[in-house]
Amino acid sequence: MNWGCYMGLFVEGMLCQICGQPIVGRQEITSLPSLGSDTNDPLFVYGDCTFHTGCIARLGVYPEIQERVNRIVEMTRNRPPKCDICGQPIQHWNDIVAFTRLTSETSGILSGFCYKQFHKQCLKHDDRLPDLTLALRRLHSSGEWGGEQLELWLSDIDHL
Ligand SMILES: [Zn+2]
Ligand SMILES: [Zn+2]
Repeated sequence: MNWGCYMGLFVEGMLCQICGQPIVGRQEITSLPSLGSDTNDPLFVYGDCTFHTGCIARLGVYPEIQERVNRIVEMTRNRPPKCDICGQPIQHWNDIVAFTRLTSETSGILSGFCYKQFHKQCLKHDDRLPDLTLALRRLHSSGEWGGEQLELWLSDIDHL
């Protein structure tokens, strides 16, 4: 299955992360991109991995995985990436702030910034920045987020 974005590395004979059996020959395989940066996210463990397609498709969370991948494909479609505020290409790698999954909630400030990317100057002057910063700090102090990416985003925002 080809998702059209960055994939987990596949090497013949590597083990399927679900059934533990080697992936060989012409077995149908599914490679997933990174599904986010929050190590406490239930889907985190499936990111950057390769599976027998039958194994992953049987998981109860498979529809959520598909939806997540669709969002990531959409976000990474444009090269160079396009700013979600001004609509212009982001030409320099050091002029981007890119958020992946921030929350599983479907409303609220964090939800609105999931899978969005911006020129630093565009984000700096966006009316929503104070609310976003507050919500990210709350998320950080709640301890719900796992891993260091949240701190990196907060640092990016501090240095806009
Ligand atoms: Zn398997
Ligand atoms: Zn912009």
